[in-house]
Amino acid sequence: MTAVTTEQPEKCPLLMDEPPALAHQSPYVMEIIWRNVLVFTFLHAAAFYGLHLVFTSAKIATLLWAYYLFIVGGFGIAGGAHKLWSHRSFKAKFPLRVLIAVAQTIALQDDIYQWSRDHRVHHKFSDTDADPYNSRRGFFFSHVGWLLCKKHPEVIRRGKTVDASDLLNDPVVVFQRKYYIPLAVTLCLVMPAVVPWYFWDESFQTAFFVASMFRYVLTLHATWLTNSAAHIWGYHPYDKEIKPSDSRLAAIFSMGEWHNYHHVFPGDYRIAELGSPRMSATVIVIDLFAWLGLIYDLKTSTEGIVRSRALRTGDGSHSYALENTSLTSDDRKDHVQ
Ligand SMILES: [Zn+2]
Ligand SMILES: [Zn+2]
Repeated sequence: MTAVTTEQPEKCPLLMDEPPALAHQSPYVMEIIWRNVLVFTFLHAAAFYGLHLVFTSAKIATLLWAYYLFIVGGFGIAGGAHKLWSHRSFKAKFPLRVLIAVAQTIALQDDIYQWSRDHRVHHKFSDTDADPYNSRRGFFFSHVGWLLCKKHPEVIRRGKTVDASDLLNDPVVVFQRKYYIPLAVTLCLVMPAVVPWYFWDESFQTAFFVASMFRYVLTLHATWLTNSAAHIWGYHPYDKEIKPSDSRLAAIFSMGEWHNYHHVFPGDYRIAELGSPRMSATVIVIDLFAWLGLIYDLKTSTEGIVRSRALRTGDGSHSYALENTSLTSDDRKDHVQ
């Protein structure tokens, strides 16, 4: 890409106004990565064609297969790259780590090391110029725009202060990183199409556009909603001073990621409170593997800590706070957003 050298920084058409925080420190020249724009445009065109085939020609078995891969890939991201590797919220035995790495590769969202490193930077510098998915730049940027532009210099500069070397002690992470491109092409694009074609005589075209393209793009948006919607809309039951929010929209697509809770208690594997009506499919799967003895050393925050934090810094929407008010039960339901 050609560097833009005008004195007045060229404004990226993908972005909204510069964020107030840190903006003065980083005169920022936007560079769009046109190759990525073309790739994501093609992916979405292919996904729309896949959506058309969902309603016109795909077999039921192919639809179930695509949904299964959506769930598996989603867990690879939410339970694997996110909770296991980025936050080290629990430990997993080697065979399960291999399986979760396969699941994470099916989702094709960068290798585990890169994904986790970006995510640690996101937590440390949340919603500033140094946050790779800085939501102060608007919905589009935090959703997908950050993948279409070169990284802000603050992301690179401050990202160097974030240590992710522990991840390279895991041979599963190292192997996946070394062979990431052939693994990702095979597991995300080829295998999902070959299985329906070989095992139940689906046409290869339908299998590819439904189980590979449409399912892949749907997984991407499910993950992206956590960076965009869950930093823009929703309630702040645990800390009203931060942008990450408990958003029902993001939680539905992300297998139960309640993001205000997560940013306040990032080490907690649960993503939402235990016993809360807020279902988290990720937590259910983690608990299942823990029951089987494949996951151990789960980290949680105590109810006392969660309660005192909600009462001290929450926006009043938590049931702990509502208990102290005269709201009706209908009002309370409205607050569980
Ligand atoms: Zn976040
Ligand atoms: Zn996180």
